[in-house]
Amino acid sequence: MAFQMGRTASGREYKVKDMSQADFGRLEIELAEVQMPALMSCRSVFGPSQPFKGARITGSLHMTVQTAVLIETLTALGAEVRWCPGNIFSTQDHAAAAIARDSAGVKAEEAYQNTGRLPDPASTDNAEFQIVLTVIRDGMKTDPKRYHKMMDRLVGVSEATTTAVERLYRMQANGTLLFPAINVNDSVTQSKFQNLCGCRPSGPDGLMMATDVEIAGKVAVVCGYGDVGKDRAAALKQAGARVIVTETNPIRALQAVHEGIQVLTLEDVVSEADIFVVTTGASEGIITVHHMRKMKNNAIVCNVGRFNNAIDMPGLENFPGVKSFTTNPQTDRWVFLDTESGIIVLAEGRLVNLGRAASHPNLATSCSFTNHAIAQLELWMERDTGKYEKKVYVLPKHLDEKVAALHLGKLGAKLTELSKEHAD
Ligand code: NAD
Repeated sequence: MAFQMGRTASGREYKVKDMSQADFGRLEIELAEVQMPALMSCRSVFGPSQPFKGARITGSLHMTVQTAVLIETLTALGAEVRWCPGNIFSTQDHAAAAIARDSAGVKAEEAYQNTGRLPDPASTDNAEFQIVLTVIRDGMKTDPKRYHKMMDRLVGVSEATTTAVERLYRMQANGTLLFPAINVNDSVTQSKFQNLCGCRPSGPDGLMMATDVEIAGKVAVVCGYGDVGKDRAAALKQAGARVIVTETNPIRALQAVHEGIQVLTLEDVVSEADIFVVTTGASEGIITVHHMRKMKNNAIVCNVGRFNNAIDMPGLENFPGVKSFTTNPQTDRWVFLDTESGIIVLAEGRLVNLGRAASHPNLATSCSFTNHAIAQLELWMERDTGKYEKKVYVLPKHLDEKVAALHLGKLGAKLTELSKEHAD
């Protein structure tokens, strides 16, 4: 089905796969709202005073049911919101349809999903949307002057991913950061929930459903042992795999050893392992086509880090005589002509856990998105006070604690108040 585009009666632009899925999307959004109590608390606490009145917020983040709860929290606080997906495989069409119909401008195109090619910025007269598309297209690493035009209207940015935050700090250091940015990634309620627990409940299940391979008894290699690597290693271990980690950082390597996980190099294990999961983030070419050639027949290869260059997909695609067969959605078996041996690549080497092979649980996402909402609110409320310069900030500890506290009541937890005696 071709994507559908248009404007709602109130003038919001949309481009989604199928507007008839909006009712289904609404049902699932209502289910997710119950699992995302802090965002719902933000609505009841801040909604009446409409603090975002006059704010236009543009987001580029997976257009899922959980993201819909964030979008509708921002709109409930008075913002006008527009959204586009941050990953080509993560759009849930029913969520996009419900948001387009009920609350915010959405661009989640089927063509984008299927081809990975970004929509033409000329296809819309929406100024913010064009800016976001241009930024995505050119990438932060290219000439920063390309996005100078954002400076005139941008109040600030909140960013939750390790790799993008690293880039913001790099821009701050070389003087190319043109707006205040809040690093949500280093809030404890982000990194120790979304990063450290985000994939655990659904990752192994998604991998097994996509490949029809049971994890128990297999050898799984996790490249990188940051928070995301720790999450993946724990999930695979729990599913019965023998896990081996590769690391470049001695402290992280020691952490793995301390958890009873063997640390080796990829070269040591490439011919022995059944499953390879890359969590290294920005590093390119962690798994090369030469590694893939040495892998066991039908070894599974996937990436959980931010970018799709950690696995050398161009090297694989261009390898002489290689053929690919799609065995399940976002699951491809690549076969080398000379050896007739193949490997299974998930989500074309892109971030796997928000595609078919699993998605984020709502509580971890609720923490992450509440951080975003609070960061956006902070930037907007302080926009004229000069509190935030063109630098990267982390949310103060009391706001991090607030995000946690907003969840506790709904989870049946009661905090002990620190008495003066205890404190002394
Ligand atoms: P991190 O930087 O803390 O961890 C990455 C680890 O990889 C580091 O310990 C580093 O030493 C190691 N590493 C780097 N190059 C390596 C190499 N060549 N071989 C072996 N190890 C290597 O980052 P993180 O917070 O764990 O996040 C990892 C990636 O996942 C980032 O790109 C982040 O944006 C992304 N992320 C994904 C999700 C998700 O849901 N998929 C959630 C949060 C973060």
